[in-house]
Amino acid sequence: MRETGLGLLDTALPKPDRQIVAQALQPFEAQGVQFHAIRTRVAGARRFVSLHVLVPGAWTVKQGHDLCEDIEASIARSLPGTFVFTHLEPLEDPASWADQTLER
Ligand SMILES: [Zn+2]
Repeated sequence: MRETGLGLLDTALPKPDRQIVAQALQPFEAQGVQFHAIRTRVAGARRFVSLHVLVPGAWTVKQGHDLCEDIEASIARSLPGTFVFTHLEPLEDPASWADQTLER
């Protein structure tokens, strides 16, 4: 009964899966990119990860977008079937850091 119920409710990814996500992000952190507001969710058979990606504000839109594509692909490769949503922010802007508790 309990397992059946759990399958119907949204919950965070189990810890091993969250560790896989963290490992997928490590190579990007080594390049000076930072992350926060990482949220995970399981809904039925689907996995979702959302995160804020902080890069130097001087980057072009293309640089930032390419990076987000790489991050999304890397997480999806590590945890197949995961939907990844990224939110790009400038590292230098204090507002980027003040939004971690917002639901977005
Ligand atoms: Zn943020």
